[in-house]
Amino acid sequence: MTTFNEFVVKVHSRCNLACDYCYVYESPDQSWREQPRVMTEETFADVCRRIAAHRDGPVSLIFHGGEPLLAGAARIERFAALAREIIGPVLLRLQTNGTLVTAGFAAACARQGIRVAVSLDGGRAANDKHRGQSYSRVRNGIALLNAERDVFAGLLCVVDTSNDPVETYAALLAHEPPSVDFLLPHANWVTPPPRPGSYGDWLVAVFERWYRAPVRETRVRLFDDIVTLVLGGSVTSETVGLAPVRVAVFETDGSLEQVDALKTAYPGAASLPVKDLEAALREPGVVARQIGVAALAPECLRCPVRDVCGGGNYVHRYHPARGFRAPSVYCDDLLKLVTHITAAVRADVARLSSAR
Ligand code: SF4
Repeated sequence: MTTFNEFVVKVHSRCNLACDYCYVYESPDQSWREQPRVMTEETFADVCRRIAAHRDGPVSLIFHGGEPLLAGAARIERFAALAREIIGPVLLRLQTNGTLVTAGFAAACARQGIRVAVSLDGGRAANDKHRGQSYSRVRNGIALLNAERDVFAGLLCVVDTSNDPVETYAALLAHEPPSVDFLLPHANWVTPPPRPGSYGDWLVAVFERWYRAPVRETRVRLFDDIVTLVLGGSVTSETVGLAPVRVAVFETDGSLEQVDALKTAYPGAASLPVKDLEAALREPGVVARQIGVAALAPECLRCPVRDVCGGGNYVHRYHPARGFRAPSVYCDDLLKLVTHITAAVRADVARLSSAR
């Protein structure tokens, strides 16, 4: 058993956007409707005490939602101070849709050392296709975060293969993000992803632009992680590799869940029947995401890229007959991407060794 070290805390359970792929509001699990809208200070303090009792090393706490800024900048600032008081040293992060960021909020994040990541799917047309007419507000929000030192952490982009890959990447780079995370839309074998094009080809095209750039433009977590794994290093990722997943989620009422995205599988898939973090580590769903290779499908066990791909995101494996013991619904795409990156990295390693 590996302790949790990343705690997603939902400080508000509603959102002011209605993105069409949202895994909370558009999924089969509608349990958010029963949650209080806002986390109270009392509940937040209780969550922090549970984290403090559980921790056995560095931890991070991510203010999340719904849209966390609906809880108000003042509440988030109070919560940040409370988290440090109760947990001690803790890396504070916040994930937002960016539409409600104000100069006051950005300044509060700078005071409290909160690093803020923003969801944005590319340029105006690409973003507004799925995320309402939010582009202008998000762009302004990012500019306010960027005006503060060390507040803007980067962008999260859900891949839509009908958008041009390199244009999408370039549109994200225009905001000078320290990092970009490309996410595959949450899908599984019951609800497969839309496929106007190949996700593998799309990601390979972005990788080529990123990897061959004359200077490092930004950190792309998915690519960095795959390169690290190809070189024999280890990464903590829900998307690739075989390292134990160490994320726990707190709902606004303080109840504990597994990663939210499991809600895309079936109602209740993310729920945990226990309050205690230690007990949660013994829950089958958590164990399955911590035992690496032992949880993989037979196809993955035989796969040449097994240790790098790791079967992909656990959430994307769900199959009506096989449960989570199936390859990712993105198997072909992952195979293509990992094979491509492996060849690129090995070619460079060979070139550098022969040049010595
Ligand atoms: S590429 Fe497919 S078969 Fe190979 S490890 Fe990934 S999901 Fe499994």
